[in-house]
Amino acid sequence: MAHVCWQCGEELSRYHTGYLCDACQGKQLEKMITDDEDLVDAEGYAAMLGLDSAEQLKRVARKGLLAPRIPGVKKWVWRKDDIDAWFKREQQAGDVFRMAARGIASNLRTCRYDSVICSSPSDKIGNKVYGQELVLGTTDTGRVEPIDLVKVDRTTALKMLERLPKEGFPELVGITDWADMTYDRIDKDLIVRLEAYF
Ligand SMILES: [Zn+2]
Repeated sequence: MAHVCWQCGEELSRYHTGYLCDACQGKQLEKMITDDEDLVDAEGYAAMLGLDSAEQLKRVARKGLLAPRIPGVKKWVWRKDDIDAWFKREQQAGDVFRMAARGIASNLRTCRYDSVICSSPSDKIGNKVYGQELVLGTTDTGRVEPIDLVKVDRTTALKMLERLPKEGFPELVGITDWADMTYDRIDKDLIVRLEAYF
């Protein structure tokens, strides 16, 4: 398949990255500068994130944790507007994940510590962790009754699980669904870390 510049149609080398040839990339950047768009380079973006260097920024970029760069331009440069929009989205995602993490943490605590539900350490917690099924336990009154769990959206909770760094959460290594957590993996320290992470 021929790989050509989207702007001028010039053939590009197969090792060329981006959609535009070098000349058109330069022109696009110049145009953005004369159009007075706020552009941010790697050093500028690193500073916005509190990183020390563009090198650190590139490491973060490799994990896919940055705003998308300007399409077709090979240079490390972003539109300020894109970065702002990305921050806003990240913040919203953070809020949603925080709620999911607190819900899961609360349900882990209830099922593991607050209510006596007969289960052995190797049992999986199951969908109780999402608070979506009726669970009987011993309540404060000492009677066996349905216990209150927090309803947590499973899809969000699974995305949140993916976000947790496994170095910081060794109990979650190999876990791809909260429901697969066995009781012996749940301890107070994990619950506290989960509540505090987002
Ligand atoms: Zn071109």
